[in-house]
Amino acid sequence: MKTKAAVLYDLNKPLAIEELSVPELKEGQVLVKVAFSGICHSQLNEVKGKKGPDKFLPHTLGHEGSGIVQATGPGVTKVKAGDHVVLTWIKGDGMDAPASEYKRTDGKKVNSGAISTFMEYAVISENRVVRVSEKITFKEAALLGCAIPTGMGIVMNTAKLRKDSSVAIFGLGGIGLSALLAAELMQAAVIIAIDIKDEKLEQARSLGATHTINAERQDSLADIFEITKGTGVDYAIEAAGLPRTMETAFKAARNNGGLCVLAGNLAHGERISIDPFDLIKGKRIVGTWGGETQPDRDIPKYVDLYLAGRLKLGRLITHTYALDNVNEALQKLEEGNVGRALISMDSGNS
Ligand SMILES: [Zn+2]
Repeated sequence: MKTKAAVLYDLNKPLAIEELSVPELKEGQVLVKVAFSGICHSQLNEVKGKKGPDKFLPHTLGHEGSGIVQATGPGVTKVKAGDHVVLTWIKGDGMDAPASEYKRTDGKKVNSGAISTFMEYAVISENRVVRVSEKITFKEAALLGCAIPTGMGIVMNTAKLRKDSSVAIFGLGGIGLSALLAAELMQAAVIIAIDIKDEKLEQARSLGATHTINAERQDSLADIFEITKGTGVDYAIEAAGLPRTMETAFKAARNNGGLCVLAGNLAHGERISIDPFDLIKGKRIVGTWGGETQPDRDIPKYVDLYLAGRLKLGRLITHTYALDNVNEALQKLEEGNVGRALISMDSGNS
């Protein structure tokens, strides 16, 4: 069996679109016909080598998506052929199968992890798939593998945001906007959205932000203190992935229990600096690993919220690209103008 796939050969070079042969399923593996893949800064960081040297080149990419199970390897009990699934890099129940290895037509190896989604047919570890209702569209389900669980998980699991509280969200990429959706859902009273692009601030307003700040033109810290009448926010969520923004987010959290959550990824080796006296004054700072998401518990919950009309997933999707145009999608993401972009494996869908 063959599949079209995007392959990274060299850092900072465009991905190659190639035909690969799909390996036979091993224990704990699931073959999925991918419908849509998400695309996020993790892939951009991989392509740019921001995670440090890459010993796995050449390899496939993509860590969130949706699709239909085609076949299951020995021992798989969680899903069966025909199931609609969300594909997620966040580990859930089921076997943790070894990484798979695809082959090019000339027999050369292409590495892959426990999950890859920039491809039509993907071999994925059982613990990275979650069966979902057939009522949710593949397009919207594809968002449930990375940004939505991370952003919503930060608000619902990591911060456990209280009703009528105040929250500042720094960086309105997929995670920031998902956190915003969750803050609105949890009925925060003050939701301050901060970014440097006016289009994104506008989108944030339409998704429920009560205040927006353009960090390029305004002093975000001063503005946050003004909005909160000098106290700072109950929750400051950093999803921009910049050292300065992380430092600002920490300062924006109020004394006596304000919580700063760092969700953005810094480039390998970057550092931040904070004043420990702020910790003594009762500010707290934590990191998050995918919003402490338990995929098998949380993803079906988000599907239910979506089906009940309470989670407007579709409003996050701003662009859809065919797999052949994945490099254009990466470039647009780097320029920072897209909300959430999807890669469609069916060129008729894009
Ligand atoms: Zn991601």
